[in-house]
Amino acid sequence: MGQKTGIEWTESTWNPIRGCSRVSEGCRNCYAETVANRFKGRGEPYEGLIAKGGQWNGEVKLVEHKLDEPCRWSKPRMIFVNSMSDLFHPAVSFETIAGIFGIMAAASWHTFQVLTKRPERMLEFFQWIEEHPERKDFDNPQARTQLGNNHWIPFFLAQKASELLPDNGAGLTVDIKGCWPLDNVWLGVSVEDQATANLRIPQLLETPAAVRWISAEPLLGPIILDDFLFRGDHSLRETDPMAAAMLAESVADGHGWIRPALDWVVVGGESGPGARPMHPEWARYLRDRCQAAEVPFLFKQWGEFLPDNQNRKMTGPFDPNGAIRVGKKSAGRMLDGRTWDEYPEPAQ
Ligand code: SF4
Repeated sequence: MGQKTGIEWTESTWNPIRGCSRVSEGCRNCYAETVANRFKGRGEPYEGLIAKGGQWNGEVKLVEHKLDEPCRWSKPRMIFVNSMSDLFHPAVSFETIAGIFGIMAAASWHTFQVLTKRPERMLEFFQWIEEHPERKDFDNPQARTQLGNNHWIPFFLAQKASELLPDNGAGLTVDIKGCWPLDNVWLGVSVEDQATANLRIPQLLETPAAVRWISAEPLLGPIILDDFLFRGDHSLRETDPMAAAMLAESVADGHGWIRPALDWVVVGGESGPGARPMHPEWARYLRDRCQAAEVPFLFKQWGEFLPDNQNRKMTGPFDPNGAIRVGKKSAGRMLDGRTWDEYPEPAQ
């Protein structure tokens, strides 16, 4: 059994990296930092990672004995990667990130959910792989015809994992498929407002991934997502439905190109000390646009605050005084009388 978690959209957490540093407003009440502060003493897991003032100090460490955990978990599960760090933090080397992706390639029976606030470095990492000088050791012209041009990448990544493991990972159960991008890895970005959405989502959509998703938590302001939700035929559907239908058909036949879009949207309010309230209209709007675009939507939680009147329509800037602090548990996760627990296809 893996590391159990109360996070609503996953089943287990896997933390081969510890440590981080703040990036944006969404980090202000970093939960991982709060936990790390409890265990930062001598000999404890987060020793050396927290500055005097209580914030992350920017150091990170690889936790070698955790690296192979997914290969030891025989039952398939959804696994949140690095809930106590950011995999693409600048202090994590590309060789180490490659090793962590190598474990995800090797433990292909699981679904891995990666979440970052640093998609620019994630994109750089994917480019680094493609240009890696060791490509020649793995790229096989025969396999290329069967599995595609990038068949070598999962094997290259698994090799990087073995270089980080004791005894090169001898004795571990592995099942490596030659597909790229890995079909069991969902890449996501955290966004908290329109500015972070506009910055991070386009970089995510440039990165190859089987599933691309966002976690809009803590949601600190309204976000218009339409540019990232509809797969290119949205405006056509309204102006020229016949052309939109033809485009959809040619894409289904494999002849057309359609721009990538988000495959999953998770929304949640902030919890913990210092939490900021989320306006119900921000969550409701995202749900409605996801429904219009047929993108799965998961409402994770209200957070610490419950709006005093959930039916209130937003007519101006959100007045936080209109929200009541009731605690995360009491606030719950019902939006308009029901829970929203939709997932992208591969998880079904
Ligand atoms: S990126 Fe994530 S783990 Fe790092 S400081 Fe921000 S919220 Fe915390």
